[in-house]
Amino acid sequence: MSMFSLAVPCIRGLTPYQPGKPIGELQRELGLTRIVKLASNENPLGASPKALEAVQRALAETHLYPDGSGFELKAALAAKLGIDVAQITLGNGSNDVLDLVARVFLVPGRNAVYSEHAFAVYQIATQTVGAAGKAAPAHDGSNGPRFGHDLDAMLAQVDAETRVVFIANPNNPTGTLLGRSELHAFLAALPERVIAVVDEAYFEYAQAPDHPNALDWLGEFPRLIVTRTFSKAYGLAGLRVGYAVSSEGIADLLNRARQPFNVGALGLVAAAAALEDGEFLEATVRVNDDGLARLDAGFSARNLEYIPSSGNFLSFDLGRPGAPVFEALLREGVIVRPIGNYGLPNHLRVSVGTAEEIDCFFAALDRVLGL
Ligand SMILES: *Cc1c(COP(=O)(O)O)cnc(C)c1O
Repeated sequence: MSMFSLAVPCIRGLTPYQPGKPIGELQRELGLTRIVKLASNENPLGASPKALEAVQRALAETHLYPDGSGFELKAALAAKLGIDVAQITLGNGSNDVLDLVARVFLVPGRNAVYSEHAFAVYQIATQTVGAAGKAAPAHDGSNGPRFGHDLDAMLAQVDAETRVVFIANPNNPTGTLLGRSELHAFLAALPERVIAVVDEAYFEYAQAPDHPNALDWLGEFPRLIVTRTFSKAYGLAGLRVGYAVSSEGIADLLNRARQPFNVGALGLVAAAAALEDGEFLEATVRVNDDGLARLDAGFSARNLEYIPSSGNFLSFDLGRPGAPVFEALLREGVIVRPIGNYGLPNHLRVSVGTAEEIDCFFAALDRVLGL
């Protein structure tokens, strides 16, 4: 009997998440020393020095379990966001929270709705619990930003068994953003039995005047869950800290399903310290804005189309399969992300790096494309 056949059907049907290639792996494979990784939307400035100091101080207590209630981090978040501690659910990265949502609200026979080209974890979390995932077609460009979430199409997918809708704002890997009034109208139109998850992993990079802050709507929509993370702008991807903010009723349910010590002690102290480091966050956003402008100029100069992004990454169109270009860039020591598994086989996603990293990327791209 094969090992595969022992698994429950919903697990056998899963497509594994494809993470960005780790730097060490490429070093082992090709013996390269200088590698530029622009593959996982990490912070090119590293982590806040204040977070690193907090980690240093906490190392000595590594033998102790973390505070399973996350008291200090939750208090800091509540103060910063103007919410109540009881509205927060901490996660081992926000992916953990997305998983909790699926475990709490989905079961075989129920379904979750998300968009085509949406963040891959929605589908994985949904299928893992045996529920069905329904992907709504994205905008084709005639009625909204091409590749962006089409909220009317998503609403049309909602049926009697739908219990969760996942919305990434902005979405990864497309970088597309939903405006305030359209997202609000969508939330207002959802039936009462449906939980809406608005994933704001890139919120701190928000620049557009119309960029919604879904936290503003928690009072109005008791079935709204807003997720955020310390992995991106706060530079703590390796420590795995994310959170959900919701009504207290939802937070109570999510916290019941949570592993008791799902966030490690180092992550807890680092996140609390990072939250206080406004200077680092400002520098991060500045580098990102500069980097997006540099990418824009570089792609425009090469006549390569890209999807305008509200995140710290950008997906560009090669007009031909991206996978071989991705492979060739690896041999140049540059790691980007192929996104064929997101239904975008001719695009590659590049994270916003420092000016130097972006220049390395374009130099490598020119060699690969013979430009
Ligand atoms: C990166 C990302 C996350 C965050 O993942 P973590 O588990 O917090 O590291 C969540 N949603 C989207 C859309 C992302 O791109």
